[in-house]
Amino acid sequence: MMKNIQVTRSSMPEFQEYIDEIKELWDSHWLTNMGVKHIELEERLLEYLGTKNISLFTNGHLALECIIAALDLKGEVITTPFTFASTTHAIVRNGLTPVFCDINPEDYTIDVTKIEELITEKTSAIIPVHVYGNICDVEEIERIAKKHNLKVIYDAAHTFGVKVNGVGIANFGDASMFSFHATKVFNTIEGGAVTFNDESLKDKLIELKNFGITGPESVEYVAGNAKMNEFQAAMGICNLRHVDNEIKKRSIVVEKYNSRLGNINGIKICKLQDGVDSNYAYYPIVFDNYKYNRDEIFEKLKNEGIISRKYFYPLTNSFDCYKDSFKVNETPVATYISERVLTLPLYADLSLEDVDRICDIILN
Ligand SMILES: *Cc1c(COP(=O)(O)O)cnc(C)c1O
Repeated sequence: MMKNIQVTRSSMPEFQEYIDEIKELWDSHWLTNMGVKHIELEERLLEYLGTKNISLFTNGHLALECIIAALDLKGEVITTPFTFASTTHAIVRNGLTPVFCDINPEDYTIDVTKIEELITEKTSAIIPVHVYGNICDVEEIERIAKKHNLKVIYDAAHTFGVKVNGVGIANFGDASMFSFHATKVFNTIEGGAVTFNDESLKDKLIELKNFGITGPESVEYVAGNAKMNEFQAAMGICNLRHVDNEIKKRSIVVEKYNSRLGNINGIKICKLQDGVDSNYAYYPIVFDNYKYNRDEIFEKLKNEGIISRKYFYPLTNSFDCYKDSFKVNETPVATYISERVLTLPLYADLSLEDVDRICDIILN
């Protein structure tokens, strides 16, 4: 029997490395609320991401909800539906209206030529998504945002550690949200962060993730609880030591996939972007007039114990919970890609033999 292959496999430090990291928590009995591990991880992440301001959260989704609240956005937010549920839900749960812009068919990020026609007097921000490790056209988005006085928050859940011409991806827009979920390139089990430009947001973010408490006897906002705990932070400290090596190993897996699938009629792979140091977060391929369609390949792989993912399908603007809220087929390119894309298994320890096995099933 061949072994099953999951779509991803969480990176973990050696057992003893984690135990050593959490040992002092048995002395301090300080388990959450910005303890020593939390402080240390923030410092290390600032250095790793090459940015000035960061705030940690218990997950990426609540990080996004909190930065939207911190920037006090109103009305409409331009975003894309080719993303995980989190992006659209975070906008809606803040009482804002998502306005969906289509994606470009090259790298699946927001189509910057279609943003301006969606701006109205109610628009307060753009929340684009860096997809699969590909980055948005950050310069053009900045130009549009400046011209129309809009805030920009990137959903950077997929782009931990990515650099553009040597500059860390955390430095674009007003803020970026990173997810440290178990399935992401860098994980703190569950976890997330916001990086941001305006230093004065620091205290507000701390308050927003801690019930709106602003002092020992004062609560100034209605807010929830989204703090990262010490065990999560300790996992992050350990995983951060190894993340460069994990990304290197991912790149070797991606090269192998590219060598097998890069020149096949009807299969479109994602090219690396110029000037971008990728983190090789996902391996999406699009089946367009291939001898099998996406769903058939998904089933063929599943029958062999290999789990791939229809990511992102369905689009967020066609979720059941948003039924009748948005125009049908307002984003035709996103619809087209979402019906044809499949992300293949990818993680640092995926063996090249397993990549061959997966490719053989797709090709034969
Ligand atoms: C993972 C992810 C999120 C949410 O992050 P969590 O840490 O799981 O809450 C948001 N957006 C995108 C694009 C993601 O992939």
